[in-house]
Amino acid sequence: MLSKIKNNRFFEKEESNSGLLKRENIDSKFKWNLTDIYLSDIDWGKAFSQLENKTEKLEAFKGTLGDSSENLLKCLKYDEEIGIVLDRLHLYAMLAKDIDLSKEAYQGMYDRLMNLASKLSATSSFIKPEILEIPEDKLLNFINENKDLKLYKHLVQDLLRTKLHTLNAKEEKILANVSPALQTASSVFGLLTNVDLKFPTIKDEEGNDIEITHGRYSSAMYSLDRNYRKRFYENYYIPYVEHKNTLGALFGGNIKSDFFNAQTRNYGSSREAALDANNIPLSVYDNLVDTVTDNLAPLHRWTKLKKRLLKLDSFHSYDAYVTLFPSVKKKFSYEDGMKMVLDSLTPLGSNYISDIKGAFDNRWIDVFETKAKRSGAYSSGTTFGVHPFVLLNWTDELNDIFTLTHEMGHNMHSFYTGESQPYPYANYSIFVAEVASTVNEALLLDYLIEKSDSKEEKLSLIEKHINNIVTTFYRQTLFAKFEQIVHKKNQDGEALTPDVLSKLYG
Ligand SMILES: [Zn+2]
Repeated sequence: MLSKIKNNRFFEKEESNSGLLKRENIDSKFKWNLTDIYLSDIDWGKAFSQLENKTEKLEAFKGTLGDSSENLLKCLKYDEEIGIVLDRLHLYAMLAKDIDLSKEAYQGMYDRLMNLASKLSATSSFIKPEILEIPEDKLLNFINENKDLKLYKHLVQDLLRTKLHTLNAKEEKILANVSPALQTASSVFGLLTNVDLKFPTIKDEEGNDIEITHGRYSSAMYSLDRNYRKRFYENYYIPYVEHKNTLGALFGGNIKSDFFNAQTRNYGSSREAALDANNIPLSVYDNLVDTVTDNLAPLHRWTKLKKRLLKLDSFHSYDAYVTLFPSVKKKFSYEDGMKMVLDSLTPLGSNYISDIKGAFDNRWIDVFETKAKRSGAYSSGTTFGVHPFVLLNWTDELNDIFTLTHEMGHNMHSFYTGESQPYPYANYSIFVAEVASTVNEALLLDYLIEKSDSKEEKLSLIEKHINNIVTTFYRQTLFAKFEQIVHKKNQDGEALTPDVLSKLYG
């Protein structure tokens, strides 16, 4: 289809599940109501088969788009109908799978759907080039003479904007077909680091043996026991060092895939290709990196301050997150969390509040950690014709309230976009995605500082705010700068050996 599958989930943290709540013992009001999407798996299956048939008929439009504005409209409408159903099928399969990753039936459902999606992408790959073969003035006449086609004006203009980077139908089909193979480095990286890498067993703070996992990394870095943090950190990276050649080659493979795509589509660089999808100039990226690089003083000041207050001789990566205010420790139930989120969001108006209440009351959120449920938190993003859903793994921590308001920010953004925009535009770009969610977090922080009952608590909230700035502003820009340099090195033909990469990152 013209638009890619709207797989725009917003992942936040990735953590391991350790809770043992049984799903059937949880009140249904804290679990997703998937019947808002399809009444049953059987209904999903019916819709799936219908979509398979529909996909085959898409071919019939080939070679007809330039004949008349009616033909163009028919094809766009047909493609849109496919996209709407595909998104809906995807949402159901994804959510059903994520609440219990051990159920093979849902994994199978999801895999079938993804296969159909890539088949669709190849079948519909003729549409863009065929539209672009229509002379521009003829195309704009089509849009002006046909009132139903007017809706697609922006879509078509965006296509014209990227005309230089759209290939002919045959080449587009080749690219669509080769695309899964180009993902190999990335998927091997995922399998290696999530499944095959074996991490050492170490002593925890109490002297018990624990196996290092990705999920335990974050809480280890917050531990007040410095030796434990050091032990965890150093052991965590042992398997990475042992596999540095494989990891380096996979990283290089990823970079080369990006460059292949960029070159094939006539872009000057991989970054240019990546930014062009959202029409963002390269200068925006460069300006961010330059500005942050020139203004590191506050970050260094904060690090020095932490080093002094923690009374450390040297400050390591594993000292970066530990709190300066360990005495502030409160627990919060999900009910507390909902109330605080609602109270803190009052500045956004009564409509917003009543819509969030509606989401809380109507099972848009899957709250608690259960066996084999997907870890972390996300909002499902916009799916046309259905409200979005939020996945949580509530653990009664203050952080969970921030995650709740953050995800609700995404969720309401998606909900309002879906309600107000026609399908071709019922999505927002990744460039603006974090605005709604971080505004919600800022409002919650403001509210909590206002309500805090001690200086210590207020300081710990300000510390949290600073940590957010370090991770979302400085650290993200560090990643961006690293990528800026490595993609450039690859393009200039320099070798990206593990040593080169490590030195650069260090
Ligand atoms: Zn987010």
